[in-house]
Amino acid sequence: MPDEIEIIMPDKGEVFDIELEEDLLEANRRIAEENKQLLEKHRIRAIDVMGSVGSGKTTLIEKLIGLLKDKYRIAVFGGDVTTTIDAERLRRSGAKTLQINTGKECHLDANLVRKALSKIDLNDIDLLFIENVGNLICPAEFPLGTDTRVVVISVTEGPYTPLKHPYIFMEADVAVINKIDLAEAMGVDVDELEAKIKKVSPDVVVVRASCKTGEGVEKVAKVLGLL
Ligand code: MG
Ligand code: ZN
Repeated sequence: MPDEIEIIMPDKGEVFDIELEEDLLEANRRIAEENKQLLEKHRIRAIDVMGSVGSGKTTLIEKLIGLLKDKYRIAVFGGDVTTTIDAERLRRSGAKTLQINTGKECHLDANLVRKALSKIDLNDIDLLFIENVGNLICPAEFPLGTDTRVVVISVTEGPYTPLKHPYIFMEADVAVINKIDLAEAMGVDVDELEAKIKKVSPDVVVVRASCKTGEGVEKVAKVLGLL
């Protein structure tokens, strides 16, 4: 039996009152800045992977670990509301894995990431992937202190995701259009989808991929500066 996956959860009362939203966002930004400094001090590249449930975040991270595990010492924080399904999967890919369960919150926040960072030996890793909770809305407002943010969308979400959820694309450095092998069956024009992303977020780097087949994963690693 492998060791149980360690689960980080908010302490009682630690979930902030949403009526204090401005204070909350400000507090989050401050802690994110501290996380960032801590990660920089230890020369750790940290990548926040955002996107809907089922967009392919876990598969992308899994494939990137497969590609990069000989080059970097990798850790993964898996954010999820209640389950450890993804964390179990990611651990099998060979990375140190820690689960962050948010309880009922639909996004990770910098405070939870700070707690998770305190649980691992930062001298022992070079690269950290943080899989955010499957959600296209509030993760955009809660930076975690990573140096890079990636959003994964799948053609199975249809053609309108970038227009309906522009903020997450504006926040992201890299947008991965996943499951391009299914584009035709879904009736989604990938060129148009990419144009919509560029319309809401002109500076984001777009990569087309099929994380399942592995197509495009190397390109993702390259644009992240990891290869
Ligand atoms: Mg996942
Ligand atoms: Zn949320």
